[in-house]
Amino acid sequence: MKAVCVYCGSSNGANPIYAETARAFGRALVDAKLALVYGGGKVGLMGIIADTVMAAGGRAIGVIPELLVDKEIGHHGLTELHVVPDMHHRKKMMADLSDAFVALPGGAGTLEELFEMYTWAQLGYHRKPVGVFNIAGFYDPLIAMLEHTVREGFMRRAYFDTLQVESDPVALIGKLQRYQPLLVDKWALHRDKV
Ligand code: AMP
Repeated sequence: MKAVCVYCGSSNGANPIYAETARAFGRALVDAKLALVYGGGKVGLMGIIADTVMAAGGRAIGVIPELLVDKEIGHHGLTELHVVPDMHHRKKMMADLSDAFVALPGGAGTLEELFEMYTWAQLGYHRKPVGVFNIAGFYDPLIAMLEHTVREGFMRRAYFDTLQVESDPVALIGKLQRYQPLLVDKWALHRDKV
């Protein structure tokens, strides 16, 4: 594993613990000699994790669409900043450059990006690990919702189990590094019933 894609808020969140989360995860990436791939902005947790990685002597690679260079304030102090035409190019490039995907606390954008990679794994478009850094129980409601979808027969337990959940950055990175891809046959759910 060489690079980890981190999805996180373009805001700081209401509790200072979220900024600390971004700093802790950034430091853990550098300690593990892993590059950060992220959305390329200077705002919110995105900016905090990038600044932390750069200050600790690591590699931070940003990918930002033209339209957002001003809004998210493209970070020009990175190892690499790629300015791409649109969101589709951003997401594709971030995915291609990364060996694993992690969501830190964030809003709708973070959740969208996390779910894209989680569902692409389910469909077999990639075999890379996907995890959430569940600091201060931030992702507990999301985990509960996913448990609910399993109980209600919309998702396989084995697939739910592929989501790596940890509240400690070093433990989370360890899980990503040890991850063995499990090809869950999503369509078997349907075949079982016909
Ligand atoms: P948020 O979690 O809403 O603060 O957004 C975090 C990051 O996700 C920001 O860099 C947004 O530009 C990005 N984002 C927002 N919406 C989307 C989307 N539909 N697809 C991919 N990224 C998005």
